[in-house]
Amino acid sequence: MSMAPARDIAVLGATGSIGTSALDVIARHPGRLKVGLLAAGSNVEALLDLCRRHRPRHAVIADASAFPALRDGLREAGLETTAHPGDALDALVAGDACDTVVAAIVGAAGLPSTLAAARAGKRLLLANKESLVLAGALLMAAAREGGATIVPIDSEHNAIFQCLPDRHAHAGLRRLVLTASGGPFRGRSRASLADVTPAQAIAHPKWSMGPKISVDSATLMNKGLEVIEAHHLFAVPGERIDVLVHPQSLVHSLVEFVDGSTLAQLGLPDMRTALAVGLAWPERIASGVAGLDLLAEGGRLEFEPPDLEAFPCLRLAFDALAAGGTAPAVLNAANEIAVSAFLQGQVGFLSIPRLIEDAMTALPPAPARTLDALAEADAAARRHATAALARFA
Ligand code: NAD
Ligand code: MG
Repeated sequence: MSMAPARDIAVLGATGSIGTSALDVIARHPGRLKVGLLAAGSNVEALLDLCRRHRPRHAVIADASAFPALRDGLREAGLETTAHPGDALDALVAGDACDTVVAAIVGAAGLPSTLAAARAGKRLLLANKESLVLAGALLMAAAREGGATIVPIDSEHNAIFQCLPDRHAHAGLRRLVLTASGGPFRGRSRASLADVTPAQAIAHPKWSMGPKISVDSATLMNKGLEVIEAHHLFAVPGERIDVLVHPQSLVHSLVEFVDGSTLAQLGLPDMRTALAVGLAWPERIASGVAGLDLLAEGGRLEFEPPDLEAFPCLRLAFDALAAGGTAPAVLNAANEIAVSAFLQGQVGFLSIPRLIEDAMTALPPAPARTLDALAEADAAARRHATAALARFA
């Protein structure tokens, strides 16, 4: 039995796919793990339901129009949870309401709270990959200066984290190999993807996830964002990060060392494993995920190269990483606009990479040493891509 005091956990993006999985793991360990703060975007009913179940000290709703419903709902439920509007989030994350932060807001909207957790030296379970793509160097520096421990909550990076436990191993690192499921359209030609629908794009064969990352998986932009994410998390240049399609999604990534060893982490595709690693590291706790039975899973692990012809988003992400400066911020912002337009039926699937490439061409990389420079590039890319939607409809 562990003698450590219970961890106070803030779950940001509590009503989402990662948030729900995190709360599932936390609820399995009362006494060891408790919920200090829950934050969500706009779904008050779902947030109230979570507050009734997990009884946090604080609840935050980002959508200002939903704040009265949260405050009144908490009072009517007789809970001691304090309701807060979205602008209270960063201070709460940095304060004593939590020592551990699950950063699982989707998109660049997650950057301020993620940075606040890093600066305040929290244990940061980082699912919000867009914040690393947008401001990876600044975020990693903030974590170093603040004394934060980052545990990546992306299956690939969590796998690498588990395979690369210390700096000594890091010194002998040769390359990282990120595995990719290939998404719902693996094996299809570019031309055949012109008419795919949002419903087809979000029907992921292996992982159950929120709509934005599901579309990113279908375009392979998710893997592209993950290459940039890996570059920042593990200080490895893009030239030493490879992508391998692995349709079974059981090998979550591989790390190759100079001595010829390759280490990998395997498991069923369920984010609760990565979350349990983050919540208890360096200890191990039950996550609710069954062990891996390779025979029951078909007895076969297959690998193939990614098809950059059919899925140009992966190439665009490698290009943005190589270009550096504001290029990844532009890539990420244009992608957020393009994916949202695709989900709303405004543009077709093939317009997603076209919109991103168009924004990257129109907004060439500039130095990105400050958060302001990055925020400006992010905003300019959003404006550019939004105005371009009509051209690519
Ligand atoms: P989701 O759409 O299911 O959930 C998003 C959550 O963010 C919701 O709770 C929503 O209310 C909240 N939110 C949105 N805007 C907000 C705002 N402005 N302020 C506060 N909260 C806000 O998404 P998801 O699939 O859980 O993904 C979350 C993040 O984790 C993404 O960055 C994604 O790339 C990353 N991720 C997810 C998975 C997965 O398996 N789902 C795996 C790896 C990484
Ligand atoms: Mg992933």
